[in-house]
Parts: sequence; C-alpha cells; structure tokens
Amino acid sequence: MSNFYPRRKFIRNVSLGTLALVPGISAIAAYAKSKDKKLGVALVGLGNYSTHQLAPALQQCEHCYLAGIVTGTPAKEKIWAEKYSIPQKNIYNYQNFDSIADNKDIDIVYVVLPVAMHKEYTIRAARAGKHVICEKPMAVSVADCREMIDACKKANKMLSIGYRLHFEPFNMEMMRLGQKRVFGNIIKINSSNGFIWGGDPNAWRLKKALAGGGGLMDMGVYVIQGARYTTGEEPLSVSAREIKTNPNLFKEVDETVVWEMKFPGGAIANCRSSYNENANFLRAEAQKGWFELSEAYRYGGMVGATTNGSMSFSNINQQAAQMDDFAQCIMQNKPTRVPGEMGLQDIRIVEAIYRSIVSGKEERV
Ligand code: NAD
Repeated sequence: MSNFYPRRKFIRNVSLGTLALVPGISAIAAYAKSKDKKLGVALVGLGNYSTHQLAPALQQCEHCYLAGIVTGTPAKEKIWAEKYSIPQKNIYNYQNFDSIADNKDIDIVYVVLPVAMHKEYTIRAARAGKHVICEKPMAVSVADCREMIDACKKANKMLSIGYRLHFEPFNMEMMRLGQKRVFGNIIKINSSNGFIWGGDPNAWRLKKALAGGGGLMDMGVYVIQGARYTTGEEPLSVSAREIKTNPNLFKEVDETVVWEMKFPGGAIANCRSSYNENANFLRAEAQKGWFELSEAYRYGGMVGATTNGSMSFSNINQQAAQMDDFAQCIMQNKPTRVPGEMGLQDIRIVEAIYRSIVSGKEERV
C-alpha cells in the first residue's frame, strides 16, 4: 500500500480503545483510509489489453495505481519499468509469481491472460493474499469458476471480473430503463457483438485449449451480459445454433453463434456473436417503447436512443472507473457489483448454449 498522508498517521496513532469509545469512528477511519491512499495493482500478462487499455487507465485512477507487472517476456520488463516507473522488486515472471505474497506494494492482482490461464493465476494470487480482478470470460468452465471463487473466499480476498460496462453511463442507462421497467415490461431484446477476424491464424483465441471457445466466449459474453443487465433477470433456457463459413480458420472454435434466451418475465433475447461479422448493438423493446445502444460494447463512442430521443452521456474511461470502484470496494469493505459469481453465471449460460448447439434442442440454464 502506498501514498499515505499525515491524516492516516493520525488515525493510526489513535489507540483502538479510543476508537471503540467514539460512536461512528470506524466509519470515519474507513473514510480517511479510502480517501488517503491508493492501492497497488499488478497486471499479469502484458498483451494488448494491458498495454493499450489497462496501463493507460491506471494512470487516470484515483484509488489505485500500476505498482507491478508479471510477464513471461523479459524484454517487456525494461520497457514497462521505464515507462511506468515500476521498481525492479515489483516485477515478476510466471515462475516467481508466488513470492508476490511478500510484496506490500501489491494489493490487487489483475489477471489479463488467455482464458484457460485465468483459473491458475487467480488461485495463485488469492493464495498469495491478494485481491483479484480477472478478465472476462472468467474461465473455460463453470467448474473452474467455482474453484476460483472458493480460493478467493478461503483466502478472504475479493474477486471481481473485468466487466467494465457496469461502470459505463450508456450501459448503466440501459440497466436503469430495463430494470426499473421505465417503458413497461420488456418483450424482446436484440443484441449482437462481433468483428471480422483479420489477425494471426495461430492466435490463442482460435485455440480451444487456451480460449475455451471462439466468438461466443470472447464477444458473446457481452451479449449475455447485455440481456441480463437490461432485463435484470436470469435466463431460464437457451436454444442455439452455429454457423461456420470458414472451417479452416475456425477449426477449433466457434465462428458465429445465434441463440435465443427465454427470461422468466416473458422477454425473449435474440442474440448473436461472431468472429466473422461486424456488429455491436443492444436493443430492448418494451410494452411502452424501445431503448437501444447502436454502439454498445466498445471502449468508447457509445450511441444510445430511446422512444423519446437520443441519450446524452459523456464517454468515460471505463477501465479506470472499473478499477477505481474495485479499489474502493476493498478499502470500504463493500461488495463489488461485478463479482466472480456474475462471471460464473455467464459461463453457466455459455455452457448451456454449447450444449444446445450439440443437442439441437432448447437447454435449461
Ligand atoms: P493478448 O494475446 O494480446 O495478450 C495475452 C498475454 O498473455 C500476452 O502478454 C502473452 O504473452 C501472455 N501469455 C502468457 N502465456 C501465454 C500463452 N500460453 N499463450 C498466449 N499468450 C500467453 O490478449 P488480450 O487481448 O490482452 O486478452 C487477454 C485477456 O483480456 C483475455 O482474457 C481477454 O478476453 C481479455 N480482454 C478483455 C477486454 C475487455 O474489454 N474487458 C478486452 C480485451 C481482452
């Protein structure tokens, strides 16, 4: 932990006995604590998302900062150390990672690795006594998600998933309009998320063992999330099918998946994910009107409208908001709004979708 200010020293010097006698003092202490320090974050895996989104976002955070890195590529150590003033003692590789347990600068480990590696590094981080943020999708199976949640509980550490859109104003408006039934009961959700794969044909995202699946795991999780947070409900069942136009490239993983989710309130969500189509929207039709994001899941540039006209919110740094919120949750000992259980539920739905593709039938979640 770092960046202590004199006020913190004062709080520390007040004896526990005195604290106990003054009503509300623990709340004051917690407030002072949360106000006066930043928690240290170590990024594990310095690929695209860490390099271009998370590290820059951490420069804007108010409650946490980039304190350390974990990388398997020695050449990256010097570049990152210089760019972000990271001391050598806060730089780890995958072999010596567990010794991060002794490092007081690191409060939060942020796992930004290929999906199949999320479980191992989340569990190792929790055992090292660190709070964890794990990127989406949480893991390759529900069983792995459970082990991750259990390990964090056992270590008495908080676990959150990198669901940045829960902190993004346009998506938060979709949650409000839907969950508060502003336009009445939701009848239908339409959502799709995808891009045309133009990258390396040997990338980990196309390997089942590392990615767990294809467009559904990577892009479809946003669609599942969108339908869940717009309705505020959990789907009862799914019916899915897969479309494959390029079996050479998508040998191991799904290319395009189309699925329907039925919600207990009667809403039906028509969903699509793809590694071979450009799409990015979330639309809800309700009894008394519609509301939608025609740019829904990106890092910025959201576009939203309702029956009553366009939405107007500023675009924010989503990752900074997400990480700051988690740091505050830790400091104030309050639950995160994007916990491991939320990630597990998405993987439970993903597993039902894959089951439905195989069975050709509607599958219960
Ligand atoms: P990437 O391929 O750019 O980076 C992966 C990193 O893992 C690299 O630094 C690589 O060296 C390292 N690595 C370690 N072992 C590896 C192995 N066996 N094979 C391949 N790489 C290995 O990927 P990325 O786009 O940064 O994605 C990382 C994670 O972040 C994924 O879980 C992804 O879903 C997630 N992500 C989330 C968002 C979001 O908006 N929340 C956006 C992008 C990525």
